[in-house]
Amino acid sequence: KEADIPIESLNQLSLKSYPLCMRMCHDSLRTTHHLKHGGRIQYGLFLKGIGVTLEDSLRFWREEFTKNIEPDKFDKTYAYGIRYNYGKEGSRTNWSPYSCMKVINTAPNPQDIHGCPFKLWDTIELRSKLTTYGLNAMAVQDVVSYASKGHFQLACGRYFEAVHETKLDEGITHPNAYFEYSQIIMG
Ligand code: SF4
Repeated sequence: KEADIPIESLNQLSLKSYPLCMRMCHDSLRTTHHLKHGGRIQYGLFLKGIGVTLEDSLRFWREEFTKNIEPDKFDKTYAYGIRYNYGKEGSRTNWSPYSCMKVINTAPNPQDIHGCPFKLWDTIELRSKLTTYGLNAMAVQDVVSYASKGHFQLACGRYFEAVHETKLDEGITHPNAYFEYSQIIMG
């Protein structure tokens, strides 16, 4: 198991080392101070997988959510789910972070943030987001082209290559593997 990841570094990590599915959750949580249930599971398990401790996770979600709601409400309504992700509630299962297949195969509601953006977003939305994130026109075209043909993980791999300015030897099959590849490259 890797060293603990401090929550103070998540903003920075989200820029390069997060796949798009997790970057969207992170950005949305930071801007709206909320994530719906499916997003809390998808992103919460990812954070556990990259090495954020339970205590830090609770602090991270609490700090965001309580910008909108009372601390008491957070403790009563949302803290359970975070502890649950870590196997500390209910069936006490140590849940695994979601693989790409699992993220891709979820069917979020329109107002949800989770799921795989390469599958869920239309071409215009994807193109505009990738451009905002600084990908050059050729990379944007490649990613959009893979995504529109249903090759979501290839699109993700190409996005990785563009963000890291490198070639990827392996395909992306897991958001946490994406994170680990990135961390290796970035040293
Ligand atoms: Fe996330 Fe996998 Fe989709 Fe990439 S392909 S955005 S890692 S679910």
